Amino acid sequence: MESIVLKRTGQKMPLVGFGLWKVTKSSCADTVYNAIKAGYRLLDGAGDYGNEKEAGEGVKRAIKDGLVKREDLFITSKANNDLWNTFHAHDHVKALAKKQLNDWGLDHFDLYLIHFPIALQYVDPNHRYPPEWWGDDGKVHLQNTPMQETWRAMEELVDEGLAKNIGLSNCAGSLLLDVLNYARIRPQVLQVEIHPYLTQEPFIELARILEIPVTGYSSFGPQSYVELGASKDAGSLLQSGLIGGIGAKHGRSPAQVLLRWATQRGIAVVPKSNSHDRLVQNLKCTDFDLTQQEMDQISSLNQNLRLNNPADIDPRLGIFA
Ligand code: NAD
Repeated sequence: MESIVLKRTGQKMPLVGFGLWKVTKSSCADTVYNAIKAGYRLLDGAGDYGNEKEAGEGVKRAIKDGLVKREDLFITSKANNDLWNTFHAHDHVKALAKKQLNDWGLDHFDLYLIHFPIALQYVDPNHRYPPEWWGDDGKVHLQNTPMQETWRAMEELVDEGLAKNIGLSNCAGSLLLDVLNYARIRPQVLQVEIHPYLTQEPFIELARILEIPVTGYSSFGPQSYVELGASKDAGSLLQSGLIGGIGAKHGRSPAQVLLRWATQRGIAVVPKSNSHDRLVQNLKCTDFDLTQQEMDQISSLNQNLRLNNPADIDPRLGIFA
């Protein structure tokens, strides 16, 4: 399994992991167990995905059955198993991380990410969990918490051994540069949306110069957003003639081509699927190479089309404006 070595801890982060967003709750434990059995060693979860307990059950069973040891796995979370926006205030960060670890049945995360650099008013997990974007009145309630305060609390999670690595998700270059001004522990991984309709070259170049690894999410572009009615009328990448044609030349599926386009540039991926055949197929995306011409042809599909943009929920959340 190819991996990226994280600088501060020397820990190896697998280049291909399994994404847990919208993995069906009722079958999540089995899906995770079977993903581990198929060879996945990285699980990408989040409190917001609402399936951390079930994912943790799958992990527990895989360890109990001797498929893996805990140290063979790289488990990522984001308030709720990632740092969700309502928990940015300093004291809430630790409480949330502990709740999420308890849900998973773990004593540490390998990577804990700030899911979105947006602070919303606190919602007590006993009242409603995951809190998502809205208050009880259905409106978005912003809160004044500077990122420096949240990052300090993230660093304390590392000090206490609750997270081995910490990082940022859905950040732009301006925020990353700001965090680096005060970070005692630098972000170890950046997780952002990357696919051929949103190629993000300037961000990837900045991360390369700063030597911070990048994970690209939603590698299949609009596919994940179709079921949410949020695919912005973008044409399917999985059915694109260009991607299909390149796949046919290599004897690979369009999904494998899209994943290879990212991994060949050193970008980690975390494809999600509820189908076992597909998740097995997605793992096999690093044992062939695209030509430079094919890489360029795929990159030329770029439209700077961002499918996961909180500004679509409320324009005051314009973190990419
Ligand atoms: P994805 O790009 O992995 O696409 C998933 C969709 O593609 C599903 O509809 C699935 O059925 C289909 N699919 C999967 N494999 C296929 C195959 N081989 N052939 C055909 N269709 C296939 O979508 P995603 O879930 O948006 O992104 C992956 C992961 O990234 C998430 O599960 C989550 O872990 C992470 N993520 C993080 C953030 C964030 O804010 N940090 C946001 C979105 C996703």
